[in-house]
Amino acid sequence: MEYRSTRGNEQKVSAAKAITTGLAPDGGLYVPCEFPKMQADLSGLTYEQTAVEVLKLFLTDYAPEFLADAAQKAYGSFGGGAGKTVQTDGCGTFLELWHGPTCAFKDYALQLMPHLLVEGKKMLHDERLTHILVATSGDTGKAALAGYAGLDGIRISVFYPQDGTSRIQELQMVTQTGENVGVYAVKGNFDDAQSGVKRAFGNKALAEELAKNGAYLSSANSINWGRLAPQIVYYFYCYEQLVGQGAVTRGQAVDFCVPTGNFGDILAGWYAKQMGLPVGRLICASNENDVLTEFLSTGVYNARRPFYKTESPSMDILVSSNLERLLYHVTGDAAQVKAWMEQLAKEGHYEVGPEVLAEIQKTFACASVDAAGAAKEIARVYHEANYLMDPHTAVACAAARERAGENLCVVLSTASPYKFPVSVLSALEQAVPQDEFSALEQLEKYSGLPAPEALKSLKNAPVRFDRTIEKEEILTVARGE
Ligand SMILES: *Cc1c(COP(=O)(O)O)cnc(C)c1O
Repeated sequence: MEYRSTRGNEQKVSAAKAITTGLAPDGGLYVPCEFPKMQADLSGLTYEQTAVEVLKLFLTDYAPEFLADAAQKAYGSFGGGAGKTVQTDGCGTFLELWHGPTCAFKDYALQLMPHLLVEGKKMLHDERLTHILVATSGDTGKAALAGYAGLDGIRISVFYPQDGTSRIQELQMVTQTGENVGVYAVKGNFDDAQSGVKRAFGNKALAEELAKNGAYLSSANSINWGRLAPQIVYYFYCYEQLVGQGAVTRGQAVDFCVPTGNFGDILAGWYAKQMGLPVGRLICASNENDVLTEFLSTGVYNARRPFYKTESPSMDILVSSNLERLLYHVTGDAAQVKAWMEQLAKEGHYEVGPEVLAEIQKTFACASVDAAGAAKEIARVYHEANYLMDPHTAVACAAARERAGENLCVVLSTASPYKFPVSVLSALEQAVPQDEFSALEQLEKYSGLPAPEALKSLKNAPVRFDRTIEKEEILTVARGE
């Protein structure tokens, strides 16, 4: 399988090259040149075995034995909860993606991708030090730290906005162990951290200096194909469970509703459909930052709008990077995609024509749900089905109800409710303690659902990082000083 850029006719590259490079040299994203069809019988396979069947179709330059070993290492830590599909009593079906070590769905990609990167470098005889820079609003930072800690030839530095994450998210990061990790609070908001990291990536002098020292910068965010491919797996695994549970008969279409930010998770579902999985509609759920709802309804992508800091922070995004991949696949026209992306960068908007929109709307539906709507949904589903959701999942759950069609619709549950105990408790109209750990304990007492040990134990974990830096200092960190 070869990969090409969404923005031009660059040379095609192998999966290993796409994963070690991240962004294509012309600024585009790497996409597979074809969609392989799933021909294996996946019934009865474990999550790890399913992962190998999916990944070996895309990562054809990696040995299947390596993929099997990597899947074991990546998903062995999920305590058997990988891809768990839960049917509630009257309130729908949930694909719970938060049984990994950091309690958010990003573990699926970030527990596996580090192995793909290390092996990819080996295959390409690349002995440089990879310095991974991550700007995070919360979930990505910890998931990336957990994935890359302790790996040879890798260093990782994470930057989060001071006062911009929940206390639990911050503690997850600053207590991270490992010799090759660094964590920094940045004065300012997420955009300050993100722009500081982008400046480091765009700095030619820095790149040359690092090259002299045998190092280069890389990113762990979802523009990398290595983050998308592992996410295709759980759509297949979920479908097999539904068949096994008798919820659908084989071949019957299933819809998926996905709480969306950077469009990576939902796009993985679209790839699964191209591979032959009977996916009906993919419902893109947004919070108050409803740039995608507008795009999927009108064909106008307009990032010139207010940015809202919401109760579902991992969906607070105005420029949804992975949409570029869908536009490329739907149009097959790299020059057109390049023009749209340049217009977006320069003017903050672009518009696709009616045919492109119609093609996209064949599969994608959308809805946006505000904080009040999500809070009501948390309370409703808890009271009606005794099922506890986090605020991101709640946005999707309400969107799924709004857009309900004939097919069974699976809601992707992307974070443990215990990552956001304050929001969840207040949605349930309970008194909310000041301190987040008291809130977590309170929620545990109220619901009877045990909180993940990984979150509870943070209370007593030693803090290893307490440095707050100016955004200009990100460059110094990137230099390795
Ligand atoms: C990252 C994240 C999302 C959004 O996923 P995308 O792939 O960026 O669309 C949704 N929910 C949670 C909890 C997340 O961490």
